[in-house]
Amino acid sequence: MRFTPNMTPYIKDFPPESLPISSIDTIPEPPLNENFPLNKELQQILHGKQLLFENLQHPLEEIHQHYENGYITYRKGIIKTKSKTVCARCGNQEQSLFAHFPCARCGEEECIYCRKCIMMGRVSECTPLIDWCGPEPDCELTEHPLEWQGTLSPGQQHASDQVRQIIIENRELLVWAVCGAGKTEVLFEGINAALDSGKRVCIATPRTDVVLELGPRLQAVFPGIQVAVLYGGSEDRHLQAPLTIATTHQLLRFYKAFDTVILDEVDAFPYTADESLQYAVRQSRKEHSSMVYLTATPNQKWQNECRSGKMDFVTIPARYHRHPLPVPSFKWCGNWEKSLQQDKLPPAVTQWIKKRIDNQKQCLLFLPKIDKMEKVLTILRKTYPKIQAVSAEDPERKAKVQMMRNKEIPMLLTTTILERGVTFPNIDVAVLGSEDRIFTESALVQIAGRVGRSAQFPRGDITFFHYGKTESMVKARKQILHMNAEAKKKGLIDY
Ligand SMILES: [Zn+2]
Ligand SMILES: [Zn+2]
Repeated sequence: MRFTPNMTPYIKDFPPESLPISSIDTIPEPPLNENFPLNKELQQILHGKQLLFENLQHPLEEIHQHYENGYITYRKGIIKTKSKTVCARCGNQEQSLFAHFPCARCGEEECIYCRKCIMMGRVSECTPLIDWCGPEPDCELTEHPLEWQGTLSPGQQHASDQVRQIIIENRELLVWAVCGAGKTEVLFEGINAALDSGKRVCIATPRTDVVLELGPRLQAVFPGIQVAVLYGGSEDRHLQAPLTIATTHQLLRFYKAFDTVILDEVDAFPYTADESLQYAVRQSRKEHSSMVYLTATPNQKWQNECRSGKMDFVTIPARYHRHPLPVPSFKWCGNWEKSLQQDKLPPAVTQWIKKRIDNQKQCLLFLPKIDKMEKVLTILRKTYPKIQAVSAEDPERKAKVQMMRNKEIPMLLTTTILERGVTFPNIDVAVLGSEDRIFTESALVQIAGRVGRSAQFPRGDITFFHYGKTESMVKARKQILHMNAEAKKKGLIDY
């Protein structure tokens, strides 16, 4: 498609003066015509979004009339300056992630497009991003929508009060809650306050399984309001709901939509690895909005910003069951990779496993790489044929985790795939090769956080078998000790 300088769109028979949208200097923004009969369905779909023509079922003519009457804006999908090309949807500035193609849509031989966000539909030089700039759709206010009978621990209550306050005041807050503290409940009062005043709330998280778990949980405590659950392939896409639960990827479709964004597991892959997701979070917020970051393991940069007072934060240093976090012990085990080559495990590791299996205590063993894990599995199965292993590539991952829950298997070998999100009530955990680069401070804190989560079994062993201590290991241990000390000082643990 091409536009003439006065923004008349053409999809074929392009007049000579027409251009792809990226080549138009300034895109006019016609004033709002209050007498124009707006299409409410289009308003519902477009409000707070940045979509492409092909995302919309409506005829081009109707969409364009909304533009001419000041209800819709067109923005350039690709912004070209003298020095670089930028994708306005995902924020990509990495020049190698742009390509060009002979484009049938605009008739240009070389139409540049963004490869980075192409899974959400192609954004090229001739692609307008379409936003709604007319009045907000009517929404019904539900007074005090929260229906929850549970109680918060004192640590949770303190964090909950702060979350509520910053949501009311449109500020930012980091909630640093140890693994197993119960961070979701801490959001309820704040979300309630937001919804009570007609604000739109989004909980975003990098992982689809978290979205699937949070959706029903929040719908249950806010039964009177609509909760949209968005992930790749979900059907709630066009729902204009007061509360949205989405993967961070899905935020790329939103634009100045939310009054409150809660970002869960800020430290989890792929958010930290991918700047476009951070850009997506920024784009999805309204100008005046609040932001809550949730994490059990903030990275070094965040920790420094908290300690230096640059960022407001609140900690929940103790688990709800008032027992301290299990502290990892370090055991040197020599060149374990060499042992594996000789079809052996280091004796310390063999002993650790034997002790657990003899006592019928289930355990997890984390390994840095899949091939090492397969090797260990072969060795262990000679003695313990029921042991299983899971990795990210394993299609039977869910079934194996379930077998572990059902206590059908004594031990599960795993890569970092199980470092977060899974809870087994009564397990011991070890890492073999904890010196590997993949085991960052936060990965190790998360792994240690698998132990002692249930009130019934609040203790357990966590051992890092290594061939040379790393800074990450030392920092992970320090972080856990620090949280326990803080919890003790604040009277949040009894043991
Ligand atoms: Zn892009
Ligand atoms: Zn084109």
